[in-house]
Amino acid sequence: MLWLSALLALASPEDVPVQAELRGSAVVFRCETAGTVLKDAEDLVLVWSINGSAGRRSWAPPESLWPPGTARRPQGKVASPMRKAGPGLFQLEVPTDPTVLSVHYRVESPSWKGPRSRRSYVLTLARAEAAPAAQAEEPVQGSSPAASTRPSARKGRFPECWRYKDKYSVRTAPENSTLYESWGGKEDVVTQPVTFDRKSWSDDITLHWRSGDFGGSDEVERVLADSENVFKCMKDYFGVSWMQRKPTAYYVKEDLYSEVSQRRWSGLAFGDKLYLATGEAFSVSVMAHELTHFLKLAPSPALTEGLAKFIQLTWRRQDPSEVLDALHSEAARRLAAAPLKTSLVKLDQPSYYGTDRGYVLAASLIAFLIVEEDRFNELMSYIENRDFRVSFGDTPEEVEERWREFLGRRK
Ligand SMILES: [Zn+2]
Repeated sequence: MLWLSALLALASPEDVPVQAELRGSAVVFRCETAGTVLKDAEDLVLVWSINGSAGRRSWAPPESLWPPGTARRPQGKVASPMRKAGPGLFQLEVPTDPTVLSVHYRVESPSWKGPRSRRSYVLTLARAEAAPAAQAEEPVQGSSPAASTRPSARKGRFPECWRYKDKYSVRTAPENSTLYESWGGKEDVVTQPVTFDRKSWSDDITLHWRSGDFGGSDEVERVLADSENVFKCMKDYFGVSWMQRKPTAYYVKEDLYSEVSQRRWSGLAFGDKLYLATGEAFSVSVMAHELTHFLKLAPSPALTEGLAKFIQLTWRRQDPSEVLDALHSEAARRLAAAPLKTSLVKLDQPSYYGTDRGYVLAASLIAFLIVEEDRFNELMSYIENRDFRVSFGDTPEEVEERWREFLGRRK
């Protein structure tokens, strides 16, 4: 056995083994160069890309995930310097976010002139939460101890965007356009003209952007493919007839102040337009939130924004129980600090939009309805017929009372 493995190791000296391990949300890469073509290398870089699949290109990771010193390479790859952790031992920690489904990687040494490592590896991010969630979907005959101690997630329906891994065709063209939006004649969505020099589009979404905000069209095409995934997933989840318009999005990598909401905003949907001004990296989660506003609008801001935030939090998760737990805890805290004076469902005032509190409470209520009470169909029916009592068989006050009790039991 020993002899055999030694022989195999000698058989392909170009292969430089790299181990990758998921720790929390970060991937730790570890490479030992002894016995490989890179055994004398003093420096090593990890060449990597994300979300590749057989026969299709992979994508450069978003810049927000780049370790220091990372540089762009051709064909949707980046190179990140690894840290020397000992003689012949190199390490690198790379953060991930929910948009990362898999990582393709190999190592090379900038100073090594000999043959390159040929072998490239792939790590599929089966997130720790995935396995128990998949099992929980099966009907449990009898009651195994594992099943009964499992958290209460997955009672209701979730958008299963994590199933979407297809690449959509995205095209990019130069485009000179200026955005200066006036809303209602006196308040401005965008208070200064913003000029865009690029336009990219997929089946459902058009995105105007500025070349200075992105490393290249590759990055834009990846976020647009991700966004298209969300949009297609939401069509499945809500039904095609619920998506009424195709969004035209404008992305600006800086904070824009909106006089409408009286604050800096990261995303805003209005008419068939969608504005994203993140001030940092492009966020597909914020895009997912805003895309929800292209559904038929719910009768109240609380339900509209609650639904949008629910999608924003859960769209890429196989089992959203952890993130929903945190949401409900936050809602319980906010409610304890200042109780609601009126029904959340009935609440309809512009000031609602300016408050984090309003969004947290609304998302918690929506998650309670969809997940804890499994009332997705009732919710959809209510949005259609605008009669809460007819759809739910309860008044908003009765439903919200149960929601408050649910939050109260969590303490
Ligand atoms: Zn919103």
